[in-house]
Amino acid sequence: MAKIIVAGAGHGGLVCAIKLARLGYSVTVFEKSQKSDMGLPQQDVFDKDTFTYIDLPAPKNITICKNQLTLVPSENAIAPLTLPQPEDEAIVMERKTLINHLLTLAEKSGVQIHYNCPVVEPVILGSRVAGVKTFEGDFYGDIIIDACGIDSPLRNNLPKFMNINREIKDFDVIYTYRAHFEKAPDVPDPDTYYDILAKEDGTVGFSWVVTEEDFVDILICRFSPPSQEEVLTELRKISEEYPHISKSFIRGGQYDKIPVCQPLGVLVADGYAAVGDSAFMTYPVKGSGISYAMKAGAMLADTIIKDSDHLFNAEALWDYQRRFFKEIGFTAGRLALLKNLLTYFTAQEINDILKSGIFTTEDLSQIMTNKLDTFFGAAGRALIRDKIRQMRENVILKEKFSDFAVWMGRLAVTETYLPNKYDRKDVQKWVERYNEFFNSIRKTV
Ligand SMILES: Cc1cc2nc3c(=O)[nH]c(=O)nc-3n(C[C@H](O)[C@H](O)[C@H](O)COP(=O)(O)OP(=O)(O)OC[C@H]3O[C@@H](n4cnc5c(N)ncnc54)[C@H](O)[C@@H]3O)c2cc1C
Repeated sequence: MAKIIVAGAGHGGLVCAIKLARLGYSVTVFEKSQKSDMGLPQQDVFDKDTFTYIDLPAPKNITICKNQLTLVPSENAIAPLTLPQPEDEAIVMERKTLINHLLTLAEKSGVQIHYNCPVVEPVILGSRVAGVKTFEGDFYGDIIIDACGIDSPLRNNLPKFMNINREIKDFDVIYTYRAHFEKAPDVPDPDTYYDILAKEDGTVGFSWVVTEEDFVDILICRFSPPSQEEVLTELRKISEEYPHISKSFIRGGQYDKIPVCQPLGVLVADGYAAVGDSAFMTYPVKGSGISYAMKAGAMLADTIIKDSDHLFNAEALWDYQRRFFKEIGFTAGRLALLKNLLTYFTAQEINDILKSGIFTTEDLSQIMTNKLDTFFGAAGRALIRDKIRQMRENVILKEKFSDFAVWMGRLAVTETYLPNKYDRKDVQKWVERYNEFFNSIRKTV
């Protein structure tokens, strides 16, 4: 049976590892952390259909939620906007519970896991990724699955001709601070449960305050790494506005980052496939990187199983690339486009949009959920044209939304260049167009 190496025990890599090990493949995972440190100390929300999709057992006692979001504008004079209750339910789960569940399934399926063993770089032989360099030595496999997350040293050190390596630029990543606080005694909860504080203009970031039964969850997101002072200032501001938050810290307090850019244009090379955050598989604006990493892990396992001669060349792995883009990647790219638009607005313009009523709470809800694709169909384009007409009094807003409409058309054309089959020249053409498009709409600081 083929020898599979998974670099990083990320969600996507583990799902792929479990599915392959269950069929008798020899699977080894190299993970930089020790087992007890795995998983962030927080609760996450991700798509409800994830375990059905990957066809693996879910942890027991899964909690389902419907998060109704409230947008809180930076100008106090503008009333917060509570979006309609979303149609889709989601799973809410402790990160450590999820990762330990996947690790247990992996161990039971026969996956060998080396903890405390960081991967340093790929081993390249000719045109092929043949193995990984680790502090325990070099290890060779028939395919190397890159599940090392956003800063993957594999992706970052691939030769240029593979077209995979991509420099992370401004606005590709959101830097986070997250902590849970106790509630203040005898202070009632606010009327809204999940508040997104659109406090700053698009180039800065946002925060959230989620009021749970036993604690309050605060997330601060910025487009550049926030200093400790900046975090403290924001925490102070939040606690003034939300008196039900006490100063007693429960857990968290970690700084991290989330990709909020389009997925990698090419996910595979001879002997290599990227999955999860290492390939930027989140939905910018919405998140849900856990679900997309796990689903992509299952897609990759399907492609690997189909390659019966075990060569795992880019040609054979291209099925995975196409399926990922059709099911997830194109939508992720469209959301990246929208996120880019946000970075062009000033705080005042964001307030003007919220105040104007041009975008209804239903429109905003579609943007924040999986329904965004409706904006990219013919009906969506007509809707945007109608919104632009309504902006006639605000020339700057009108111009920015007109740019958005043009970008939507250009992206739709770019998507058609994704080749059906792997051909080096066609793939090169696709990735150049794809990267060029996203570079052309990038706001520079
Ligand atoms: C504050 C915060 C909140 C979030 N909330 C949500 C949410 O509610 N819902 C959601 O769906 N997503 C959420 N995300 C995003 C989510 O965490 C990621 O999209 C998801 O974890 C990606 O999974 P992955 O499979 O790529 O692996 P990752 O979770 O990125 O894991 C990568 C693994 O590789 C290991 N590793 C890294 N480098 C090396 C190396 N050199 N050698 C060996 N191992 C290595 C790491 O230790 C880790 O175990 C959040 C992220 C943050 C930071």
